[in-house]
Amino acid sequence: MSTVNIIDFIYLISAVLFMLGIKNLSSPATAKFGNKLSMTGMAVAIIATLANPDMFGYTMIIIAIAIGAAIGGYAAVKVEMTSMPEMVALFNGCGGAASALVAMAEFQGHTGGFASFTLVTLLLSIIIGALTFTGSIIAFTKLQGIISTRPITYVGQQIVNAAILISTLFLAWTVFQNPENALAFYTIILLSLALGVLAVIPIGGADMPVIVSLLNSYSGVAVSMTGFALNNNALIIVGSLVGASGLFLTKIMCDAMNRSLANVLFGAFGKVDDSVVDDGEGPTGSMKGFDVDDVATVLESAESLIIVPGYGMAAAQAQHVTRELGDYLAEEGVEVRYAIHSVAGRMPGHMNVLLAEADVSYDQLFAMEDINDDFSTTDVVLVIGANDVVNPAAKTNPNSPIYGMPILEVDKAQTVIVLKRSMNVGFAGIENELFFKDNTMMLFGDAKASIQNLMSAVKE
Ligand code: NDP
Repeated sequence: MSTVNIIDFIYLISAVLFMLGIKNLSSPATAKFGNKLSMTGMAVAIIATLANPDMFGYTMIIIAIAIGAAIGGYAAVKVEMTSMPEMVALFNGCGGAASALVAMAEFQGHTGGFASFTLVTLLLSIIIGALTFTGSIIAFTKLQGIISTRPITYVGQQIVNAAILISTLFLAWTVFQNPENALAFYTIILLSLALGVLAVIPIGGADMPVIVSLLNSYSGVAVSMTGFALNNNALIIVGSLVGASGLFLTKIMCDAMNRSLANVLFGAFGKVDDSVVDDGEGPTGSMKGFDVDDVATVLESAESLIIVPGYGMAAAQAQHVTRELGDYLAEEGVEVRYAIHSVAGRMPGHMNVLLAEADVSYDQLFAMEDINDDFSTTDVVLVIGANDVVNPAAKTNPNSPIYGMPILEVDKAQTVIVLKRSMNVGFAGIENELFFKDNTMMLFGDAKASIQNLMSAVKE
């Protein structure tokens, strides 16, 4: 067996480890093991690459690995769970940038003519990688609140974006005909960078989960294209896995937010429909704040309870006390379940991760579609720092930016207890009529402190 064959065989092992890793990530029970499998797969792929006899410049490679590992390791340890989406957005951007840079280096360092297929994949890698980079930076700055999460729109925006895309593809065709055309080559890079910015600025905060998943998929496609150009099987397989799984995740997030994939791909999403006139009517009813003892009494008298966690539970780091309260009530004979909305929190699977970390039993966790019918027969729903994902406006108000998004229909329960700090809006920036309903009790305060107080009160 030649060295190249051995390296390809090792790449195959790493690809199998990645696939098994992704398979295991599909359940919270096996997710940690899946992560370890994928880490091993990556280590195996790096070792195989370094063992390639054609490899040179080890000093530079080791310096680069040391810098990357230090930054990545520090960020992974330091980053708060609530800032994960920003980190994922940055990772996507880095993936896109790395693919584009490798493809650019290959393009410029190449001697002799290009095979047509190699040239096409190099150009695609540069275009997709560059737009993924700037698109992800914009997504990061929106998630971080550095720029407004509101959609930035202007007249003719889609036409401008389409014109840039067509110009980029036309220039790519020009470079394909004549790879010596440096002006066209550098213009492609600039236009692709601009397209990433312009494609993401019109997208509103509430649609960021979809765009982060989509950019994740794009970064995989860019890696895969680079793999084809370099004839590197590991990059092809890993890029395809990321591209495909990112696309599936995009589809899941689209369904969770009631947006079609075509609507995501061709833009104009996250934009409030200007043709719909706001009726100017805020929520009707009156908001009713309660103290801990009142709320504890309601909890104690419940026979069935559904806990609905949201971003506020993550922000307050209240997952452990939530589980303790849930376990205590279950021991007292209350039927306790948790309802999870796919876009609750700030990243896909955010609530599952937190509740798994707090050792909530998996058989108590229910996805929206599996539990929505049960709210009407439930005594009490405890909403912990969730807002948009329980906002009835998504069903009742055609003027609302979230109209059509499937929600957890908590308002159908006999009593709804909402824990949050104030009457502030959620991520989508809209009022929530749930807080004004007759069957809603508001308990204001940091979620962790409120649950600790409730725990003391129910134990008395
Ligand atoms: P929301 O962002 O709608 O609401 C969270 C609520 O938590 C706020 O109203 C806030 O109110 C409250 N809160 C914040 N800190 C605390 C605290 N310490 N204690 C108690 N309450 C707190 O969250 P949801 O989970 O309902 O919805 C998620 C939103 O985020 C959706 O719009 C989704 O589209 C978007 N999104 C989701 C992503 C994902 O992948 N899951 C990624 C990016 C965005 P107050 O300030 O009054 O306390």
